[in-house]
Amino acid sequence: MPPSSSDAEARKIAELLADLARMRGAPCPRCRKTLCGHEALMSIVMGFKSSPHCLACLAAAMERTPAEMSEQLREYVLHRPCYREGWAWADARENSCLRKDARDGENR
Ligand SMILES: [Zn+2]
Ligand SMILES: [Zn+2]
Repeated sequence: MPPSSSDAEARKIAELLADLARMRGAPCPRCRKTLCGHEALMSIVMGFKSSPHCLACLAAAMERTPAEMSEQLREYVLHRPCYREGWAWADARENSCLRKDARDGENR
C-alpha cells in the first residue's frame, strides 16, 4: 500500500491554505467588512467558500451569536487535521481578530 493518504492530506492542506490566502482580505458581501483568515476558514467550513462572509454575517445566517458561532466552529475545526492547519495558519497571521487565548504562541 502506498502511503497516499498522508500525501492526499498534505495536498488538501496546501489547497486549503491557498484558498485561505486568496479569500483573506476580501470584503464580506453583506456588510463589507474585510475578512480575516479565520473568517475565510469558517466560510469554507460552512459551505460559503464561493461567497465568504464575516463571522457576524455567518452567525446571523445561522441565527446564532457570533460568540456561539466562533466557539462551535473552532471546536469543529480543531477536530479535523486539515482545517486545524488552516486555523493555525490564520493564527500565525492574526493575533487578536477573534480571541487569542487558544494555542497562543505555538507558531512563534
Ligand atoms: Zn459581514
Ligand atoms: Zn482571524
